[in-house]
Amino acid sequence: MVSEHRNGFGPAVVGVMNRSIHAAKVTNAFTTEASVALAISPYNEFGAEVMRTEHGFLVLISPVTFSMCFLYAILAVTSAQATGLFHQGLVPRGPDGVSLIDPFEWVYASHRALMSMVQEFLRSGGVADPFGKVKEARFDLLPWHYVYRVQATYEQMLDFLALHELGHICLGHMGQMEQVRRAVPCTSISYEVSSPMPAQEEAADKFALNCLVGRGHGEELLALFQLIEGGEAQSSKLDKLWTGNTSLGRYTSALQLLKLFDVFNSGQCSEGAGIEFTKPCELNGTHPSGQHRFIKAWANNHVLELPATHKFNIGSIIQWSNWVNLDAATHAQEKIRAICQQLEML
Ligand SMILES: [Zn+2]
Repeated sequence: MVSEHRNGFGPAVVGVMNRSIHAAKVTNAFTTEASVALAISPYNEFGAEVMRTEHGFLVLISPVTFSMCFLYAILAVTSAQATGLFHQGLVPRGPDGVSLIDPFEWVYASHRALMSMVQEFLRSGGVADPFGKVKEARFDLLPWHYVYRVQATYEQMLDFLALHELGHICLGHMGQMEQVRRAVPCTSISYEVSSPMPAQEEAADKFALNCLVGRGHGEELLALFQLIEGGEAQSSKLDKLWTGNTSLGRYTSALQLLKLFDVFNSGQCSEGAGIEFTKPCELNGTHPSGQHRFIKAWANNHVLELPATHKFNIGSIIQWSNWVNLDAATHAQEKIRAICQQLEML
């Protein structure tokens, strides 16, 4: 599942390219006349990048990014649902009404699976037993339509990455970059890429968030909320909300991806791998930290364009994010319970 092989990701790349360029066009943000192509990069590191070519731009996403995002999407969706139910005092129940798990146990297990997966990935560049992580998180406790939710989350995370790079192109960040004239060499990865600048990264994130979430979805969300308020628990219209195919779903996916960067940074900083905070909210003076990017995107929640009568519940994403910070992979369940009590999270 977490693979370095490049063969299987062709269809996924085509999907990401079509959706992200379409999203930028309908938001009137696709301002370049240049040709833009999206492809799979030859690197093994997680991430995406953009380079200038003779006739346009090439956006590259590494193979491991596809597989890692898929596994992370499963664990992020599971842990977010477990956290949400726990804080609402709810629990998954079987057909006979009997609760299927202790809610604290589930929120702990799902976060332990997520954090241990990311930590293993940082340590080794892979995940030895991805199916074991899915099992450990108890993905099986989610209702059936969460399979679609995971798929949507996965695609939206990749779209955000591609849109961030499109942002660098459309916002004119590529102007000073040396033109890259040669094909990507097989034996070296030393061709030039522009050095990232914190303000440009922030602007590219904002561009990506605007395009991904889109405009004019307030009415649709209102209609869905009204169904819930009217006591309608199940309907084909509401399924759109649960499966993540709304502006709220796309916004949540972007935040979950940025939270992954935050976790990456905390792992990298603590391992003393030459990565450190050099200025407030910046790493090595070149990148805004994942934490900063997450908070910025959260603060930009007006992109959801909710009708004035309704407000986005800011609590649920922050509760999930706080649980990620507790690092359930490093601490035993009782220790986490004690910390939660101390922080009045229970
Ligand atoms: Zn960037």
